[in-house]
Amino acid sequence: MTDKYAVIGNPVSHSKSPLIHSLFAQQTGQDMSYEAIEAPLDGFAATIERLRAEGYKGCNVTVPFKFEAYQLCTRLGDRARDAKAANTLIFRDGEILGANTDGAGLLADIEKNLGFKLMWKDALLLGAGGAAAGVLWPLFNAGVGIVIANRTIEKAQLLADEFKGSGTVYARRYDELAGKQFDLVINATSSGLKDELPPLPDGIFKPGALAYDMMYGRETPFLRYAREQGATAISDGLGMLVEQAAEAFYLWRNVRPDTKPVLEKLRA
Ligand code: NDP
Repeated sequence: MTDKYAVIGNPVSHSKSPLIHSLFAQQTGQDMSYEAIEAPLDGFAATIERLRAEGYKGCNVTVPFKFEAYQLCTRLGDRARDAKAANTLIFRDGEILGANTDGAGLLADIEKNLGFKLMWKDALLLGAGGAAAGVLWPLFNAGVGIVIANRTIEKAQLLADEFKGSGTVYARRYDELAGKQFDLVINATSSGLKDELPPLPDGIFKPGALAYDMMYGRETPFLRYAREQGATAISDGLGMLVEQAAEAFYLWRNVRPDTKPVLEKLRA
């Protein structure tokens, strides 16, 4: 029987996850279906209950339900526990197992696809929402020093407080960034959705720096700014999307898909 999976979000119709997972399934010969399901904003838990009752094996979770998904889990992987957010659920033996593959997806894209070594690098992480929370611990564990900048500084400070005493993670307001330079600047804000640029000063890129925008599908003001400011390498977040999907696919199916041809197909 075909195993059923889905991505749950609101809105979700724009999601590329059904295409990515159907390409993975074709490539690895897995008998599975994967669809996008929009849950009402106040109906996430009910949607999960329905999927479990209908025999779905698991799902991905996207904006704005990742924190609620974490609350519903009966067992958690370490990355979901660290982020307090889950983007991948597995329904098994009456339990809801929660994982977070966003961080692994970002790291795989940066190190494997873009060939940028993370250890000992200084990163500026823009934003303090779900996406930033999901990648913070994996970046920290990869040996990266991190400054988190956010409009609402209290949210950045809350995230940085989890690393108190480490000496490598700090929260800063945008107006405190003048004169500072970084090897890696990651835009984990949703500013690109509104065609806006976070209020960054000039000169933040060190020689050889990588500018990474988690958004994909269009050139954001952040990527334009990075080009003008002389960042050496520039990338959108499509590779992260494909790599986090591959991690979820592996958790569900115990098979690792080859991400390269899928990413090439999406870029084409
Ligand atoms: P949230 O809504 O949780 O957080 C949004 C963040 O963006 C907040 O920190 C907010 O700041 C900040 N922000 C919004 N507008 C601006 C602006 N104009 N200037 C400066 N800061 C701004 O969103 P998520 O964290 O879930 O997602 C963020 C982005 O990451 C989205 O674009 C999403 O598509 C992308 N993403 C991509 C993934 C991938 O696989 N490629 C995976 C996950 C997310 P404040 O707190 O001050 O309001």
